[in-house]
Amino acid sequence: MKFLNILKYPDPALRIKAQNVSEDELKNISKFAKYLAYTMYKAEGVGLASTQVGINKRIIVIDISKKFDENYESFLKNQDILFLNKNLIIAINPEIIYKEGKITHEEGCLSVPEFNADIERSNIIKVKALGLDGKEFITEADGILSIAFQHEIDHLDGILFIDKVSPLKRTLYNAKLKKLKIKEKVH
Ligand SMILES: [Zn+2]
Repeated sequence: MKFLNILKYPDPALRIKAQNVSEDELKNISKFAKYLAYTMYKAEGVGLASTQVGINKRIIVIDISKKFDENYESFLKNQDILFLNKNLIIAINPEIIYKEGKITHEEGCLSVPEFNADIERSNIIKVKALGLDGKEFITEADGILSIAFQHEIDHLDGILFIDKVSPLKRTLYNAKLKKLKIKEKVH
């Protein structure tokens, strides 16, 4: 299994809008989807979008169950276990087709280290997407799962959750990042 490099804010590649996966590409995407899921579990995230690893095709993986250890041990033995995990969602060309209500929750992101913020999103959503088998599915989500879908689909459009916080919070985070970088250079 391959751990993919996760791009970090403010990398400009995180701003590229991803393209739909074509029918031809779908046939060859399964290996990449596995790597993407593996990378998400290993980084202990609940979701990861292809944009975050520098691939500009619309693919997201989500698992909000947070059973990292159990999954991780299994991967090392058998990578196919990954796809037997019923908590893992792989969505290709995902689209939000319905939104209802509001929910505010503290979010974090593997591409925006050491930063958390309350973000308001839709509470109930319906997502239309393709599975790895190329078949279309529609799923309804609320709460954390709904938030995860919206957060990951935003990534595919080049949007980060930090874009949704107040300018002051963003400025403070940018200053913190600068300090961290200076520290890295000194040591
Ligand atoms: Zn993210």
